[in-house]
Amino acid sequence: MSEAKTDKPIKKRKIKLDEELLAYRGVWVFVESERSHVHPVSWELMGQGRRLADQLGVELCGVVMGAPGPDLEAQCQAAFAYGADRCYRIASPVLAEYRNVPFTRALTDLVNAHKPEILLLGATTLGRDLAGSVATTLKTGLTADCTELAIDPEDRCLLSTRPTFGGSLLCTIVTLNYRPQMATVRHRVMPMPDPQPERTGLIVDFEAGLIETDIVTKVLEFIPDDQRDKPQLPYAEIVVSGGKGLGKAENFKHVWDLAKVLGGEVGASRAAIHAGWISADRQVGQTGKTVRPALYIAAGISGAIQHRVGMEGADCIIAINNDPNAPIFDFAHYAIVGDCNQVLPALGRTFAGYLAHQGS
Ligand SMILES: Cc1cc2nc3c(=O)[nH]c(=O)nc-3n(C[C@H](O)[C@H](O)[C@H](O)COP(=O)(O)OP(=O)(O)OC[C@H]3O[C@@H](n4cnc5c(N)ncnc54)[C@H](O)[C@@H]3O)c2cc1C
Repeated sequence: MSEAKTDKPIKKRKIKLDEELLAYRGVWVFVESERSHVHPVSWELMGQGRRLADQLGVELCGVVMGAPGPDLEAQCQAAFAYGADRCYRIASPVLAEYRNVPFTRALTDLVNAHKPEILLLGATTLGRDLAGSVATTLKTGLTADCTELAIDPEDRCLLSTRPTFGGSLLCTIVTLNYRPQMATVRHRVMPMPDPQPERTGLIVDFEAGLIETDIVTKVLEFIPDDQRDKPQLPYAEIVVSGGKGLGKAENFKHVWDLAKVLGGEVGASRAAIHAGWISADRQVGQTGKTVRPALYIAAGISGAIQHRVGMEGADCIIAINNDPNAPIFDFAHYAIVGDCNQVLPALGRTFAGYLAHQGS
């Protein structure tokens, strides 16, 4: 997903960057952490940031912010392992919990001091909140929820591609006259790079001068989101998804059965969710979850673009559809043309037999 899949050359006006903005250099990734836990999207972005920085011939930098302590040091080391050359570290007790105002102030001051040309954040709840206020404070361009990032070699511009018009089109957006060029990217859209623990880099401390009494927002309590009983679709190695082609609610059982045999998670298209066959937290796609499993089985799913953008990063896609012209066959690795209500149980029986044989 690192190269923009645009067939036609992108027509854009010539850049007329102000003299002062021409000096902006480097690719930055905001390292998002909460309670000592770095969001994996930060490392996915580091992998992509490395490719962009290499293409531009510049440094890749991480931005690490939080309360002073060993966590920040560990996050810088992890950022180096995932590809960063340098980390800007902002340590302040005011940054112990995420709040928009101090984080925006610290990040905008850091950008103004060290002038990156590209700034990437995860399109998480935190990342979207922070990116929007940083971009408006800096008066620069931000493309939210990108699915591809690439560089135009002609003018070093960041080409940020994202679905638009309800996902029916992919558009590539460029920030011509302002710097940094900002983008947010969803979790699991970019592949996770392999960490290289031997890599090291330079830590640069930045004094943000934050004063607690200047900040009106206070965090009174932290209530953790109990995810234990919720589907862990984004991380699942195997996902079996069902769509409208299953015909009726009871037939969703075939999807559950196959997922159980394979030890995978159950997903669904939006049409299946709208039909009330399965809960909304299992929706895969643009307005649902992005998954990146080793194996994705799509049963009775047409392959609409809004579904596709949530699962096309799977290593292997097997589609079952009774219409040989279904769009999903355009990008599935294996196509099974047939009735999913017959094929799913048959696959379940075959895999169960095979796996039992493997285990003996
Ligand atoms: C703003 C917006 C956001 C959206 N977000 C999402 C999203 O996040 N996720 C999502 O999935 N959709 C999303 N959609 C909806 C999306 O456009 C499609 O409508 C939806 O994905 C279709 O679901 P489906 O493939 O299950 O159903 P259908 O389009 O009805 O397709 C059913 C398929 O099953 C096949 N079929 C029928 N009977 C059988 C059978 N017996 N055996 C095998 N195959 C059979 C048919 O040939 C057909 O291809 C969004 C739409 C909009 C406008």
